[in-house]
Amino acid sequence: MNSYLTDLLSSIPSDSSLDISKITAAYSFADLAHTGQLRKSGVPYITHAVETARLLISWHMDTDTIVAGLLHDTIEDGGATREDLVIKFGEPVARLVDGVTKISDVKLKGSSEKEAVENLRKMILVMAKDLRVVFVKLADRLHNMRTVQYLSPEKQVKFSKETLQIYGPLAERLGMGEISGELNDLSFQYAYRNDYASLINETEGLFKKAESHVESLRKALISNLVPNLPELKITVRRKHLYSVYKKLQRPDIDGDLSKIHDLVAARVITQNVSDCYAALGLIHKAFKPVPYLGLSDYIASPKPNGYQSLHTKVFGPEGYIVEIQIRTEQMHEEAEMGLASHFYYTQVKESGVSGADLDKGNYQVPDKLSWVKELMNWHKEISDNTEFMHALEFDAFAHRILVFSPIGDVYDLPRGATVLDFAYAVHADLGHHAAGAKANNKMVSLDHLLSNGDVVEIIIDRKRLKPNPDWLGFVATHKAKSQISKSIRNIKN
Ligand code: MN
Repeated sequence: MNSYLTDLLSSIPSDSSLDISKITAAYSFADLAHTGQLRKSGVPYITHAVETARLLISWHMDTDTIVAGLLHDTIEDGGATREDLVIKFGEPVARLVDGVTKISDVKLKGSSEKEAVENLRKMILVMAKDLRVVFVKLADRLHNMRTVQYLSPEKQVKFSKETLQIYGPLAERLGMGEISGELNDLSFQYAYRNDYASLINETEGLFKKAESHVESLRKALISNLVPNLPELKITVRRKHLYSVYKKLQRPDIDGDLSKIHDLVAARVITQNVSDCYAALGLIHKAFKPVPYLGLSDYIASPKPNGYQSLHTKVFGPEGYIVEIQIRTEQMHEEAEMGLASHFYYTQVKESGVSGADLDKGNYQVPDKLSWVKELMNWHKEISDNTEFMHALEFDAFAHRILVFSPIGDVYDLPRGATVLDFAYAVHADLGHHAAGAKANNKMVSLDHLLSNGDVVEIIIDRKRLKPNPDWLGFVATHKAKSQISKSIRNIKN
């Protein structure tokens, strides 16, 4: 057996219920599709598909998501067709691969915050149909960032900025703290080279010092806590450098590294919630809590992304302030892996929302696991922060659809919009000369109703002189109507 495949299969836990033969078939298909292609690093392209799939396996994803991870570049870069994927792996896999392509096609155009927010919002809509698409995209991006050193300096900066703007925050929003931390740190060094270099310089000594303090606190904690709570584990974690960078920009920190007390923190992992509070009591008995910095009870009041833990700051050995985070095993898993954690994932899948229901705004998902709601909230939040507010009203969501041009431009249209509305949205001339169209590579008529996520290509007839007045009978947008009427009037005159 091929060694890439052997490695991939060996990363699947022996007790998993994954469909090994389907994964093997997807590997063979991808291997064939990418034959002869190399990554910039010089290794065969298939390694990228394999690493993407391997990450998805480690995130406990289901068979179809892993298969989509293996196949995610076979249409774009490997000459496969959607039909091939449907026949060999089924419609759901083909849909996942489509979704990944669509997300990747939403490019960061322009640099203003407005444009970034708008793109992000559009991406959220595409993803909201099936969250598994996001996981494949995050795995794809994580592997690309892990190998970004092989790209040209321009591409390094471009990918890194895009990652910091979109994929890092996205992973964080989904509660995938480990993934967002890694994505951000990988990007930070290329996106802001100088800041990165000077921060590394300034923090190196501080990290070392903090690590030694936290290590002695950890030893003290073990002797204080373990007699009462023998199951508990205590670890030391180092803050991601990009989070340090962001925290320094907060007004209350104002660039002062000495105000950051969680550069290195101790983490106490317990068996259950009551042990968290028991541990907190014992810790405060042994080490004086720092009064004004306070205690945060994110167990009673979780953060918006679902994060749960107790955070306390105490005067550790030698009076050095140390943050201690206390959480259960399950909270820990969820904090690192968020919605990707197995526990969450199965339930999200069970409470899954169909694309059609989502389009209609008919969705009801349990509170804690409501990724759709989470995305909505995010969508709402980012719009609150911009002048876009009026255009992005929450309930506007259910009445809009997003349609893509073949080169990945996104058009936001009302429900009921037709192919011809899309043509006019792109350009009046494209509308006037529209003769037909392809939606998702299938020929359709100009009055064809568009659905969320369609990719539309307009076929034009340069010889046509004027729009057809009958068109006014089916177009839905004001823009199309007014352009058609105007053009007809002008020609009559
Ligand atoms: Mn890829």
